[in-house]
Amino acid sequence: MTNTPITVAHGDGIGPEIMEATLLILKEAGAALEIEQIEIGEKVYLRGNSAGIDPSSWDSLQRTKVFLKAPITTPQGGGFKSLNVTTRKTLGLYANVRPCVSYHPFVDTKHHNMDVVIVRENEEDLYAGIEYRLSPDVMECIKLISRPGSEKIVRYAFEYARRHGRKKVTCFTKDNIMKMTDGLFHKVFDEIAASYPDIVNEHWIVDIGAAKLADTPEAFDVIVMPNLYGDILSDVAAQIAGSVGLAGSANIGTQCAMFEAIHGSAPRRAGQNLANPSGLLLGSVLMLVHINQAEVAARVHNAWKRTIEDGVHTYDIYEEGVSSQKVGTREFAQAVVARLGQSPQKLKAANYANAPDSGQGGTKEASQAAPSVSLMGVDIFVGSSEAPNTLGPMVQKANGGGLEVAMIDNRGVKVWPNGKPETFCTDSFRCRFTAPGGGAVTQGQILDLLRRLNDCGFDVVKTETLRNYDGKPGYTLAQGE
Ligand code: NAD
Repeated sequence: MTNTPITVAHGDGIGPEIMEATLLILKEAGAALEIEQIEIGEKVYLRGNSAGIDPSSWDSLQRTKVFLKAPITTPQGGGFKSLNVTTRKTLGLYANVRPCVSYHPFVDTKHHNMDVVIVRENEEDLYAGIEYRLSPDVMECIKLISRPGSEKIVRYAFEYARRHGRKKVTCFTKDNIMKMTDGLFHKVFDEIAASYPDIVNEHWIVDIGAAKLADTPEAFDVIVMPNLYGDILSDVAAQIAGSVGLAGSANIGTQCAMFEAIHGSAPRRAGQNLANPSGLLLGSVLMLVHINQAEVAARVHNAWKRTIEDGVHTYDIYEEGVSSQKVGTREFAQAVVARLGQSPQKLKAANYANAPDSGQGGTKEASQAAPSVSLMGVDIFVGSSEAPNTLGPMVQKANGGGLEVAMIDNRGVKVWPNGKPETFCTDSFRCRFTAPGGGAVTQGQILDLLRRLNDCGFDVVKTETLRNYDGKPGYTLAQGE
């Protein structure tokens, strides 16, 4: 086997100890790796690099395209950018994959048969980081869901399920409320699911889905979610499986991939040979599968399971009566090495023979015919401290040129005309202008309207055009509209 180049960062806090333990096990298991080491994290931040990673380290990552990363410490105080977010976005790592498995009766958990893989979209949703202050009192964060972004992640989830012999893919969204953004994610899920007849598919609204996951995780197999729900629920899933200290995760892109433990650098445990290296080790198992060293991945994973079964436990999972030996980081690694070639006796043995991961799960769908678009009006956001019944006639003064204010809302609830006095109003209003009697309008009419609003003394904060796509509205109605 030729050695696969990988980039390794030892990180901060317990990072160097758990990385050393992990690399020892990988070496003894016969992993064919050519390691390039880079420095990231605290030291780099404190040298004045706000990204926590040197330009030369990007060269290594672009060369190897595979990153095994120990946790880092983000220094206290402002101005330091999250290295994880930077790495994910820069390398286009669109899929976060986190297997959450319970190891009953060897690790304490309420859920004896949990084996769930969370596939989280990693690049868009509310995490696009596009935020605005609309008025002194109102902040806005834009939730972006795209068709190609959704297609990439959903197809990845189904391909993952197929490669790993999983039977079902579940989608969580909140499309009963966010009909356009989460609605698109759900629609794409249904479309792609149809081309995987061998895999069961289902959709849950995220609130009840999350409750079911926390209560009965055995009901799920692979779950695919937009970014925010995935961020929250992948931590819940790891925690209820037994311990966040045991889970590893993969961040997959079409060209690069990053593998890590899900926990942080636990600075208070650093340098004491105490930390559990399992999270990083299981992250490295995902890496071995990714680089087509499936046999080594299974050897490492099975030796690790056997170690856990034999009760050789670090302090965080040690339990009197269940564990046989409390060990440190180094001794745990040696115990895994001693069991290489052995299989677990009670836990399910790992077998990755059919699971080579090219990282290419998210191929783009055949593009659909471009829809016909017509401009139907404009929403204009203005700041005002007036009551709606005063504001309405003031805005009406800008009517003309084929555009009239049809309604005004506040935080999505219609407040004029015929608003309810009980509705609470902030200092940011949205005024919807359309053609009287409906029908298309022009950009020129909108520009003229903006000029009239300006002449009436309004401070236009932002505009959103109202468009129909193939005759269907590309915008939602306000509540009560
Ligand atoms: P943490 O995950 O480091 O620690 C939380 C708790 O879990 C602590 O009590 C710790 O002792 C324990 N713990 C964590 N990993 C363990 C292990 N392998 N073995 C035994 N016990 C373990 O979270 P935190 O304390 O909130 O964060 C510490 C630092 O880590 C912060 O600077 C944070 O920014 C950083 N962090 C980094 C990453 C990353 O690099 N991916 C992720 C999360 C947090």
